[in-house]
Amino acid sequence: MYDAKAYSAASATSPLEPDTIPRRDLTSRDVQIEILFCGICHSDLHYARDEWHEFMPTVYPCVPGHEIVGRVTAVGDGVTKYAPGDLVGVGCLVDSDHDCANCRSGLEQFCPNMTMTYGSPDPHTDRVTYGGYSESIVVDERFVLRVPTNLDLAGVAPLLCAGITTYSPIRRWGNLEGKKVGIVGLGGLGHMGVKFAKAFGAHVAVFTTSPGKTDDAKRLGADDVIVSTDEDQMAAHAGTFDFILDTVSANHDPNVYLNMLGLDGNLTLVGAPNEPLPVAAFALLFGRKSISGSLIGGLEETQEMLDFCGEHGITSDVEVIPIQRINEAYERMLKSDVKYRFSIDMASLKGE
Ligand code: NAP
Ligand code: ZN
Repeated sequence: MYDAKAYSAASATSPLEPDTIPRRDLTSRDVQIEILFCGICHSDLHYARDEWHEFMPTVYPCVPGHEIVGRVTAVGDGVTKYAPGDLVGVGCLVDSDHDCANCRSGLEQFCPNMTMTYGSPDPHTDRVTYGGYSESIVVDERFVLRVPTNLDLAGVAPLLCAGITTYSPIRRWGNLEGKKVGIVGLGGLGHMGVKFAKAFGAHVAVFTTSPGKTDDAKRLGADDVIVSTDEDQMAAHAGTFDFILDTVSANHDPNVYLNMLGLDGNLTLVGAPNEPLPVAAFALLFGRKSISGSLIGGLEETQEMLDFCGEHGITSDVEVIPIQRINEAYERMLKSDVKYRFSIDMASLKGE
């Protein structure tokens, strides 16, 4: 094992602070990565503050970060896909059992024995896994992704979670050509949802609580921007959507979005508020509507998404920060004041 610099939280109410964590020595399948950029996902904040206690209690100290891009610094002797110097990415998963029906179908995110990038028991260290707010990470090559070399790396990092989490349900929904798609919440996930839905030919509308984001939403590709707190604007679009992707991180009323759907419309939740959302049966019955959820994506689909982004020049719109500003970034994220993802320049960790 070796020591790596990182930022960790010691409790649900502690700020993130400089720390040193153990990383394992390379096994034959492992890739060691110098982390160049790590995006800040709202899940990092939920986790650091133990907001998902009921489903996934946080083990402290915790090191969040699952939107990782970096450069390979060393590989184990059995590694075939990567060599030192390669640009690579790591998302929300670092291992799985490789053997269950879901893994065999390329759906590692639903493996009952998956290892998440942070907070899962880590058999290599007898601790929990530690994420990307760190100078380096060691990952099984099967969970390392190839990153397009033609894109801005700070803007590539968020593709590893915000990108795949929106790409996967949008792809799964089917042919969006000529369909009306809504994206609820213009944050990290939401702004990627707009880009992908637009790239797949949909008519895209953004539902936002922040009227000040209107111009940005249009620049990102939205055809319509609907301020969700304005009843007249909402009424004008009621019953007209085929598919709505809900990325909201806080508790809210899903029925208002079910009412926006037309016949057989679907509302897919990717946002993960800790409280149950109330769903009115009648909001589903009339119009045979459905509500469902989606969780990140499997390895193969994540690679497909990265390749798609390389071909189409798609990245996340990022505000690059040094890691020393991470606590401030969390507070701004809570106020919906992020345009549209924070990406940490990990070079800033070297001086700690
Ligand atoms: P984010 O950047 O903070 O964006 C969330 C957006 O939701 C905000 O920008 C805001 O958009 C809107 N919002 C916030 N509070 C609201 C409220 N009280 N009522 C209505 N709208 C509100 O967060 P993110 O990183 O995109 O993550 C969003 C959620 O997805 C989080 O819960 C995260 O944990 C979850 N997530 C899930 C997966 C998955 O696999 N399913 C993966 C990653 C993240 P406006 O200002 O436009 O209203
Ligand atoms: Zn995430």
